[in-house]
Amino acid sequence: MISETSTEKILVIGALGQIGKELTEALRNKYGKERVIASDIREPDFDNAPHITLNVLDKEALISCIREHEIKVIFNLAAILSAKGEENPQMAWQINMDGLLNSLEAARETDISRIFWPSSIAVFGPGSPRQNTPQDCIMDPNTVYGISKLAGERWCAYYTEKYGLDIRSLRYPGLIGYKGAAGGGTTDYAVDIFHEALKSGNFTSFLDKGTYLPMMYMPDAINATLRLMEAPRETLKVRTSYNLAGISFSPDEIAAAIQRHIPEFKMAYGPDYRQAIADSWPQSVDDSAAQKDWNWEAAYDLESMVKDMLLHLRERYKAVGA
Ligand code: NAD
Repeated sequence: MISETSTEKILVIGALGQIGKELTEALRNKYGKERVIASDIREPDFDNAPHITLNVLDKEALISCIREHEIKVIFNLAAILSAKGEENPQMAWQINMDGLLNSLEAARETDISRIFWPSSIAVFGPGSPRQNTPQDCIMDPNTVYGISKLAGERWCAYYTEKYGLDIRSLRYPGLIGYKGAAGGGTTDYAVDIFHEALKSGNFTSFLDKGTYLPMMYMPDAINATLRLMEAPRETLKVRTSYNLAGISFSPDEIAAAIQRHIPEFKMAYGPDYRQAIADSWPQSVDDSAAQKDWNWEAAYDLESMVKDMLLHLRERYKAVGA
């Protein structure tokens, strides 16, 4: 059980990534530092204890880790993201698929009570409705990342139905946060733009004007993840992955929102191969199932997110003297 009163141990796989860093911190703040074991294939360059180096593709090492630390809950965030995945489809498939299957098999062989595995809006494709994309509709992803997430969702439902595991999942939109670097996705421009607005005052977006995508501020994503993981099992009707909506905006809209704080900021557009990926994804998603089943509601809109991002990044750059 994942709750403040429980003593069960939690393992975060992929804890050094954009989401992993923030999720690990939030879990430690909520449930206690020693209860949350961080792990990643990489070594941390900061004090992240308790941390172990672990390759999710090594199932035996994963099982030993679960047994040794008496882990009961897993958050498996290790993945190759959309843009990076197109550069090496075989590797993306292997890490995304075998990594998930290893964590599901390890859970079956041990005593894991709950698993979180994130999916993405990339499960949708050119045949899916692009506005207010429903929970269930045609899904024809045409990136290796999207194909791996759609297959992964089906595996999650399969292991839940067939083996009684309790696997929970969210279709995250593009996530924007100030604590970690973006990890090679199609929505990374919406993180990088803030850094360049403060550092150089110029930014060239790899997505064109008018390219609307579903996005979310990281505190909302972390909040949604914790709420989903704490929800009583019987309330959850979706055992593939829940649509999750935050804010939908285009590069020109976020640039205008930044210019309201930094009037001299200049934006240019140089769309590259990521434009075709963005054009195959929804512009907004319908998350009424999440609202109904576990009372989901996002807190941030574009204006409040931009204000908060700039505030924190300014503090960070000031602290390092940049
Ligand atoms: P990221 O690339 O920033 O982090 C992934 C982490 O996994 C990295 O620290 C990496 O070192 C680690 N990793 C890679 N291969 C590994 C392996 N074999 N064993 C152990 N660790 C390994 O990604 P992120 O943005 O933090 O995304 C986390 C999850 O959320 C992924 O499943 C991703 O698909 C999903 N997601 C992210 C976004 C987003 O906007 N960031 C949107 C939708 C879904």
